[in-house]
Amino acid sequence: MFILFTYPKIYIMLKCSKYFMKKAFKFRLYPTINQANQLNQHIGSCRFVYNWALDQKVKTYEQIGKSISRFDLNKLIPNLKKQNPWLEEVNSQSLQGMTKQVESAFTRFFREKNCFPKFKSKKNLIQSFPIPQHYDVDFENNTVKIPKIGEIKAVLHKTFEGELKNALISKSCTGKYYISILVEDEKEFPVKQVFSESTTIGVDVGIMDFAAMSTGEKVENPKYLENSLKRLQVLQKRVSRKQKGSKNREKAKQKLAVLHEKITNQRNDFQHKLSFKLISENQAIAVETLNVKGMIRRHHLAQAIFDSMWSSFVTKLEYKSEWLGKTILMIGKFEPSSKICHVCGYHNSEITLKDREWNCPGCKTKHDRDINAAINIKKFSLIDQNLIGI
Ligand SMILES: [Zn+2]
Repeated sequence: MFILFTYPKIYIMLKCSKYFMKKAFKFRLYPTINQANQLNQHIGSCRFVYNWALDQKVKTYEQIGKSISRFDLNKLIPNLKKQNPWLEEVNSQSLQGMTKQVESAFTRFFREKNCFPKFKSKKNLIQSFPIPQHYDVDFENNTVKIPKIGEIKAVLHKTFEGELKNALISKSCTGKYYISILVEDEKEFPVKQVFSESTTIGVDVGIMDFAAMSTGEKVENPKYLENSLKRLQVLQKRVSRKQKGSKNREKAKQKLAVLHEKITNQRNDFQHKLSFKLISENQAIAVETLNVKGMIRRHHLAQAIFDSMWSSFVTKLEYKSEWLGKTILMIGKFEPSSKICHVCGYHNSEITLKDREWNCPGCKTKHDRDINAAINIKKFSLIDQNLIGI
């Protein structure tokens, strides 16, 4: 499984292999005007091939009731190039990478009940294209050499060793270019460390605070992030008030895009620090899995941001735990962690989202809603591991 982030500085993607560690690195690129044009041409051509491949898939299915594989699609690409000669100027492997992307979009649709694959639009916030192989990184000269374009200036703030796997070039909504490189390291994952009740921490996420811990600690959302989120709502309103298609609306949208990028960076910075702290201080971390289907249905902005924050935080916990030999214990969302008293087990079905504190009718313990939930998350996951009794 690939996990993608948009943080410019640290590893952003990770694939777990059976024996070797794969890490991803993301670097900012500084193309010349000419190179930027070439990169844009790659982005546009790849989007074109993606949309063509998606269309072929749908049409073939409608006509013969069968799916067309990406290998058969790739065989059609030379013909597509004849009809659209400008595709010749673009790296063929990048174009073929798009049929692979279409295929994985369908796999996600069938297996994970994701939305039906959509056509790629020029208006998407992040535009990208893949480079499956034949690119090179030069740490001495701070350049990245890519097929058909050549050496592009980059800021390679971090060195790595290992075999270069696939790369992805992306362009952010503010016009910055990045390359994400997947590297396979010869090192094996460390052996998982043994954990017990005393070395496990339970973490619950809240809307008021970012997280509550089974130790009684709470971690607030950083103030700067909250301010940015407030500003986001203001800017969003501004965009919706402007007339569609007007220049002012475009300007407002651009401002919104810049803020989105800032929030993503702030959020990732905060989450990297917190996840590293949790992983370093504990042998196992218990969390609740996200209800993915529920997430899609939520349209409220704050809730959507909150959900994406949590899932990217869990992802960071997961891969950092692999690097350091720690364990992440997941329990299903269906367990009513905030409604059960962790002392006597009383199930209080009357608690609503508004109740920040409650008194247990069973044993009279006064609970902080989120801390109680964090303790339960820890308990449930240790019961799952047969480390404690019910
Ligand atoms: Zn109780």
